[in-house]
Amino acid sequence: MRSSLGKDRICGVVAAVEARGMKRQLQQALRLTRTVELRLDWLRNEREVARFLAWLRRFQLPAGTALLATCRRIEAGGKFAGSVADQLAILRLAIECGCSWADVEIESAQRLRAGGLRRLLGPGGRMVSYHNFVRTPRKLETRVKRLEQAGGTVVKVATQCNTIADSLRVLKLASRKVRVIAVPMGEAGLPARILALRAGSALAYAPVENATAPGQVSLEEMKRVYRAGELNARTRVYGVIGNPVGHSLSPRMQNAAFVARGMNAVFLPFLVRELRDFLGAIRPLGIAGFSVTIPYKRLILRFLDDCDPLAAEIGAVNTVIVHGGKIHGYNTDYVGVLRALERRIALSGSRVLIFGAGGAARAAAFALARSGCSVCICARRPARAKALARKVGGEAILRARLRRENFDVIVNATPAGMYPRADESPLEAGELNCRLVFDIIYRPLKTKLMQLAVRRGIETVSGLEMFLGQGMAQFELWTGKRAPEAVMRRAVLNALKK
Ligand code: NAP
Repeated sequence: MRSSLGKDRICGVVAAVEARGMKRQLQQALRLTRTVELRLDWLRNEREVARFLAWLRRFQLPAGTALLATCRRIEAGGKFAGSVADQLAILRLAIECGCSWADVEIESAQRLRAGGLRRLLGPGGRMVSYHNFVRTPRKLETRVKRLEQAGGTVVKVATQCNTIADSLRVLKLASRKVRVIAVPMGEAGLPARILALRAGSALAYAPVENATAPGQVSLEEMKRVYRAGELNARTRVYGVIGNPVGHSLSPRMQNAAFVARGMNAVFLPFLVRELRDFLGAIRPLGIAGFSVTIPYKRLILRFLDDCDPLAAEIGAVNTVIVHGGKIHGYNTDYVGVLRALERRIALSGSRVLIFGAGGAARAAAFALARSGCSVCICARRPARAKALARKVGGEAILRARLRRENFDVIVNATPAGMYPRADESPLEAGELNCRLVFDIIYRPLKTKLMQLAVRRGIETVSGLEMFLGQGMAQFELWTGKRAPEAVMRRAVLNALKK
């Protein structure tokens, strides 16, 4: 019998050391998907395996559920220390207890004679898998053939993708006619992992609780944030590029905005170790636009076909639109600064101190100077402050003078005070002689600097406002639609709470 892999193509992965944890996770998974993999090799010992399977035999599975049993041996990257015979006996028992598929790794399958897998697994569907936790080898097609020859009616290839180009090779397998499950592993493979179903992969895996492979996203994120099961050839692909990028809140914010506006679009986090690696993926993945973060905001300028004059003047690009194969750069940090401050203070004629002289300080300095502020720059390297002040027609101020100066607004444009060093403040209380403090940092929402300001009766604005402002401007540039501010704010606040 050739069992169905299930009506849901996002497969929840259940992995716990005790039967109790497996039961809880399975019930949790079934709330989000009807296709679930049971990692029996994670169970601590045979007693826990027997306990869990006895429970499973009695458990009333909801209609349409497809359970995949896996008992991966240590040699194939799993946790099961027993022999191949023990492994297959457990998988056979799992099938008798309600699983419709068993996943056997190539290392085990190859030890059996022709037809052995079918005989040993009985009526269960046979999946044969290849894992490589170090790299994505060449000639993946040959690996697929070997998996088929070893008796797999469905075959799975899961390899560590050290580059985005690796992940494209894994994705290519998914478009084959035979049923292939393509699993790009590792953080660089994460966008491809989310796009695998769109590319034709029979399944995409996502853990309920414990990650069982590098670069996974949780079942909840896969379904609700990235909507991986709903993506199709017409889905517009956007993303953020950076290194690191895992902490970015942009995917939560932009995906929530796409849903709110009813758009067939997705926003993915691209870990980029080399810009060219990412640029090579724009066409194959059909990327329509992307956000740029540290350390590429300046470097990307070299690769643009066209750059907005203001972004060129600031010398940093945080937003790219792809159009007709050409890439166009913009700077929306500039807009973010203005959106954060305009609602709180009349900018024209205000005296503003910017502390810091890096990328964000440059965007703030240009934005505020163009809005009619008198801009002062103070930085720990006075020469950098001077250079920026000269660019925007402002004034450089030495730190020692701050206690004697008055401003309408003080902007912190340094990372000092950012999580995890949240107990630091870039400036001391006595240096805050102003009406409003704007801390560009949004993690934490109430920084030490903001707390010092509140104690002195000074109003504060969080970097969250700038983050939202720059993200809304990006959304509007990419889609031509008005950004749903309330939805985006809620998405970011919920993510920050987590
Ligand atoms: P950057 O280009 O590296 O510039 C950082 C600036 O801060 C430099 O002038 C640096 O001085 C200075 N600095 C660093 N640590 C300092 C310290 N302990 N005391 C005093 N000065 C210090 O970084 P960036 O891109 O401008 O980003 C700065 C911060 O803004 C980051 O925390 C970033 O997350 C945040 N940001 C927020 C948003 C938002 O939407 N809210 C947008 C962009 C950036 P040196 O040159 O001497 O190293």
